[in-house]
Amino acid sequence: MGKKNILIVEDEEDIQELLKFNIERAGFNTTVCGTGEQALSLLETSRFDLIILDLMLPDMDGLDILKKIKINPIHSDIAVIILTAKGEELDRILGFELGAEDYVVKPFSIRELILRIKALLKRTHHHPSTKKWKYKTLIVDQEKMEVTIDEEEIELTTTEFKLLLELIKAQGKVLSREYLLNSVWGYDFEGYARTVDTHIRRLRSKLGDYAEIIKTIRGVGYKIKIN
Ligand code: CA
Repeated sequence: MGKKNILIVEDEEDIQELLKFNIERAGFNTTVCGTGEQALSLLETSRFDLIILDLMLPDMDGLDILKKIKINPIHSDIAVIILTAKGEELDRILGFELGAEDYVVKPFSIRELILRIKALLKRTHHHPSTKKWKYKTLIVDQEKMEVTIDEEEIELTTTEFKLLLELIKAQGKVLSREYLLNSVWGYDFEGYARTVDTHIRRLRSKLGDYAEIIKTIRGVGYKIKIN
């Protein structure tokens, strides 16, 4: 297995260097950036196992970045350790509420931080993602073929479940009706593209408040859109 990748989001140069030096010495790869904007664009292009996130950044509140990471199903598995200044109790609590796995208070002990990084990465290593997709209180469990909203199961037909899953897997890309017919029904159902529309309509009505995550792209097909 290759080295784990750690993204360090911190604007103070001496702390950046301290983190980079020690984390690399502990056997990890690091990528360093100093603004929220850079962090978000790095997340679009690279794969990270853990993020060390300073909450006080020049362009963005670290908590907003955390929120963006944790509501995005592609990134929500990445462990996040937040760095807070002494006494920022409120930020720490908000950080946990928004899904951060751990925090350290500045000034921090680098040895302790390294131990926490190792502990977190071990945890994620031993409990690999169970193929669950989450958006707010909507959870789609691929293995159990189960969809829940606010912890209550939504009864979907196999076809509706497969449709939803295909759209989720496409991660926001538009899927044509023809594509969906092939992948969900398993054969070329030419001429009956409206079958897809009918099932999407039923799926939406079962999703209730979440109906709007499925967007219609007129003349083309459908995609998932979450904010
Ligand atoms: Ca800072």
